[in-house]
Amino acid sequence: MLSIPSPNALDASRLIVEPTPTPKPVPSDSSTLVFGQTFTDHMLTVRWNVSTGWDAPVIKPYAPLMLDPASTVLHYAPTLFEGMKAYKDKQGRTRLFRPDLNMARMNRGAARMAFPTFDGSELVSLIKELLRIDDRWMPTDPGCSMYIRPTMIGTRASLGVGPSTEVLLFVIMCPVAKYYSSGAKPVSLLASTKDVRAFPGGTGSYKFGLNYAACVAPQMEAAQKGYQQVLWVLGDDHECTEVGMMNLVGGKKREDGSVELFTPPLSDIILPGVTRNSVLALARAHADPSNPFTLEGVPSNLVVSERKVTMPELRDAARDGTLLEVFGTGTAAVVTSVERIGYEGEDVKVPVEGGNGFGPIAGAFYEALQAIQYGDLEFADWSVVV
Ligand SMILES: *Cc1c(COP(=O)(O)O)cnc(C)c1O
Repeated sequence: MLSIPSPNALDASRLIVEPTPTPKPVPSDSSTLVFGQTFTDHMLTVRWNVSTGWDAPVIKPYAPLMLDPASTVLHYAPTLFEGMKAYKDKQGRTRLFRPDLNMARMNRGAARMAFPTFDGSELVSLIKELLRIDDRWMPTDPGCSMYIRPTMIGTRASLGVGPSTEVLLFVIMCPVAKYYSSGAKPVSLLASTKDVRAFPGGTGSYKFGLNYAACVAPQMEAAQKGYQQVLWVLGDDHECTEVGMMNLVGGKKREDGSVELFTPPLSDIILPGVTRNSVLALARAHADPSNPFTLEGVPSNLVVSERKVTMPELRDAARDGTLLEVFGTGTAAVVTSVERIGYEGEDVKVPVEGGNGFGPIAGAFYEALQAIQYGDLEFADWSVVV
């Protein structure tokens, strides 16, 4: 009987390593690194095609890709990415932060993009090996880290729009400086009521390249008007969704004296951030009297809500003094406090009173998350030693 072999699964044990014959000099001062411009010596690549499945993974010298000009990625944008970081702890060990969540998100995106999915723990094993091989690139200065960029692209050479029968998964890495190397600075936002980042039924909840290309022109417009980032609002009620490429979180005083920590609920207009998820988990642990974890300087009567937030609500809360803080969350900066939001010709002033460039709530999350990421504080099984 003729049997059709089932396509190969992604298998880290099949890894082939081709070390670079020409290692590059590692920048001596990691504090001067510009984000995303310096890459390590090696990259991971894994090819997939519909008939044989995943090829053997290869770690080889970092180099340009060779692509057929008809590759679907160059025409119809089948491409998705992840963003995660590795950190050196005080014992010199490298640590990842909740990589399982990045893998789950990448697979969710792959399914939506009609790409192959894979066992996320296999890719984490391969990323760990890449980190070991390029360990001399791992910045050790406090606050520095290695940014890791897993990517998938459709490489089928055809101008027909259709499923990706050939895909390339690759991972590149850049050493990055401490984000707040000259101290944290709150940012200004322009609430965009004209351009939309994501919409119901759309793909805004995935890290698809196509979601980001269209954000650059509105970002430049905001910069021209004197604002650093765009606050993406949606619909007639000016629902707040995200801050640039970060999730939106805020704090508000409630009538009974408690503090509400609010963020828009996950939906197809919100990217499910690992930092957002972690902020919510820490906030819930802090508010739970039976949990010993506390966020320094945050009231214990904290109420955590995932609910719709609108721009008129933020404006009114700023006016009547109940708005405590607004901040963005994401892997690159961890948290970024907001000091003003341009909205309908007016500047909504957001309090930022922590002294160190963060409001007290944002600052507490920043400290706690950094402590967990660098292995100084244990929380659940979030920090994974490589
Ligand atoms: C990546 C990203 C975030 C933050 O996600 P993290 O996993 O916390 O880094 C938020 N919003 C958008 C649009 C993003 O692309």
